[in-house]
Amino acid sequence: MSGVMSFEVFSGGSVTFDLATCAKCKTKACVVACNVPNLACVLELKDNVPALKVTQEEAKRGACIECLACELACMTDGIGGITFSLPMPEWDELIAGAAARGETPGFQRR
Ligand code: SF4
Ligand code: SF4
Repeated sequence: MSGVMSFEVFSGGSVTFDLATCAKCKTKACVVACNVPNLACVLELKDNVPALKVTQEEAKRGACIECLACELACMTDGIGGITFSLPMPEWDELIAGAAARGETPGFQRR
């Protein structure tokens, strides 16, 4: 399995899964997290890798609620196959200002 599975979200960001990494992941923690009762349940396991249960259009219209549960689950129990990109211009500006002053931010976006 290779390539990526990617979809856009309502805020203008995107979620991308590296399928070669995800195929090796034993926990599939992102899928488990997304399917906790009362969460959005837009992810499923297909061919041993995460897939969308809804259409790309539905995900972008808000079916994915951008709760970040999948990313957090991957960080704690997965092996780093997910990249969640959200537009955060104010944050980026803050970090750039800190860097310009020679400060080292405690947290950096990937
Ligand atoms: S938990 Fe991370 S590495 Fe595992 S399947 Fe999900 S995104 Fe891929
Ligand atoms: S952000 Fe939330 S709703 Fe969207 S895929 Fe991840 S866990 Fe599911």
